[in-house]
Amino acid sequence: MAASSFVNPADLDSVGSQPAAKALARRAKQRRQILVMIGVSYLIDAGVLLLYAHAGSIPLMIAPAYAASGLTLVIFSILLSEFGFNERFKDHYLVAPQATVCMLIALAFTYIAPEVGGMFLCTLFIVFSFSSLRSTPAQTMAIWTAMTIGLAGLFLLTDKPVSMPHGGHLERFATLLVFVLTIGRCMFLGMFSSSLKQSLYQSGLKLKEAYKRIEELAELDELTGSYNRRCIMRMLDEEITRAGRNGTPCSIALIDLDWFKRINDGFGHPTGDEVLRTFAITMFANIRGIDRFGRYGGEEFLLVLPDMSTENAVRTLDRLRAIIADLDWSAFSPNMSVTISAGVSTLKPEETPDTFLARADCALYDAKARGRNRIASA
Ligand code: GH3
Ligand code: MG
Ligand code: MG
Repeated sequence: MAASSFVNPADLDSVGSQPAAKALARRAKQRRQILVMIGVSYLIDAGVLLLYAHAGSIPLMIAPAYAASGLTLVIFSILLSEFGFNERFKDHYLVAPQATVCMLIALAFTYIAPEVGGMFLCTLFIVFSFSSLRSTPAQTMAIWTAMTIGLAGLFLLTDKPVSMPHGGHLERFATLLVFVLTIGRCMFLGMFSSSLKQSLYQSGLKLKEAYKRIEELAELDELTGSYNRRCIMRMLDEEITRAGRNGTPCSIALIDLDWFKRINDGFGHPTGDEVLRTFAITMFANIRGIDRFGRYGGEEFLLVLPDMSTENAVRTLDRLRAIIADLDWSAFSPNMSVTISAGVSTLKPEETPDTFLARADCALYDAKARGRNRIASA
């Protein structure tokens, strides 16, 4: 086994002992299921060998000896798996060693009982279908090379008459079973592989969706659902670049809720939060699809208005101001009123985001100084 394929179980624990323990238990269970399938496969072949023995083609001992070889491999593998030995390796199924042992069993029994050698050689198809599900191309090539050497030794260095019995009725029936069951098991493995692929594809889709959702959440402000500061600042940069490239105007508005501290003090912080949320929802309902609205900090928001002149921006902001002021806030408290002030600025040629924002901030300061619930432009 290559040194690079060695995995220290401690590395798995570093992910977090709980999930790592769960993952290990799941892997052990998968290995157990596969090993049981291998055991059943050996028992099926031992059943066919009993038929051949009954027909007199081979000594009776061959069937239990073959079953015992296969089951010894399975029990030994289960013990290794249960004691966590497999987890030391990247290929935790230990496909290559198991396939090699299965191959040796098939070749050895072909040598011992060449009268039914065709049947043992048929099992090589199953071994290959099975091992190629889990092994790398390099492992598959290695197993194939070992098998070629083994078969060459058997066919070229011995004169064993490898055959399939087809004399009597029972022999012909057993041989029919060999082919039918071998093809059936290969087919089952093919279906198993395609269902594995399908479930991998589905997991991939789910992962993609979850990743998209995480990306969305990372861009949103938790409380208001508007873009967070990092995201709205990135959008501002993008709009500035676009406006410069296309020669179109771009306006922004810094919007601040008036006397918000009083709302918190008078009605409580949770109500303040609700007010912020309602304000954001109202804004979203009344801006264009291309406008970008995000939380700049606290109760201050940034609205980016692409392709909009100062005049139109001031008019838009005044419309939004009136909508907020006219909103029925009595659901929160009978005496509540909420207003906003905003400072509007329009991008100048070659202007940086900092000065663009600073001018909007100055205008906002001006709107506050002139009595609040109003819009000022830089
Ligand atoms: P002005 O009209 O001058 O803007 O007055 P103001 O009271 O709104 O201004 P100030 O900046 O003094 O107060 C802002 C308040 O907003 C203070 C802070 O506690 C509150 N605030 C900031 N973020 C949140 C929040 O997420 N939830 C709540 N409930 N309050 C917040
Ligand atoms: Mg305020
Ligand atoms: Mg403020």
